[in-house]
Amino acid sequence: MAVTHIDKFVGMLLDLPVDSGVFYAFGPVTPGARQRAANARHPKISMKELAGEALFPPWSDNLEEISPWGTCRAPNCRAGEIWWQTFVQDDGTDAIEAGSCDYCGTWTVKCRDCGEEEYAFSTDVTCMTCGAGYELTSSDYQSNNWDGVVQTSKGHD
Ligand SMILES: [Zn+2]
Ligand SMILES: [Zn+2]
Repeated sequence: MAVTHIDKFVGMLLDLPVDSGVFYAFGPVTPGARQRAANARHPKISMKELAGEALFPPWSDNLEEISPWGTCRAPNCRAGEIWWQTFVQDDGTDAIEAGSCDYCGTWTVKCRDCGEEEYAFSTDVTCMTCGAGYELTSSDYQSNNWDGVVQTSKGHD
């Protein structure tokens, strides 16, 4: 099992609408191949070294292992991580945490009232848990590179 096997597997995954794969290695694995699998980000690779084992583990065991990889909650994006930024508020109220997904680009805002994370369909974000409203802002009106977030309405207590 060498690097070329992993590269071939990555190429196969890239043709599929998935962002992660489990690679079963039934033979010895070279250190290079192990490293290649460990460094793969999109798609992510989970390497199972089963040298000497005859049985395939049930697929459901691996699903549990894969799902916590990404923190992004946007639909069809399980593997992305949110790049959290802290936005200091001009009005002196507590800073708001928000950030974009490194995979799908969707923004997520952490609700200041209830702490839940809500992803943004548009520039207006409504917390589904408490109803608080937020708005993504940009100093460049034509850009969707948001550089700020403000709270537009309070959630219920
Ligand atoms: Zn995402
Ligand atoms: Zn909330």
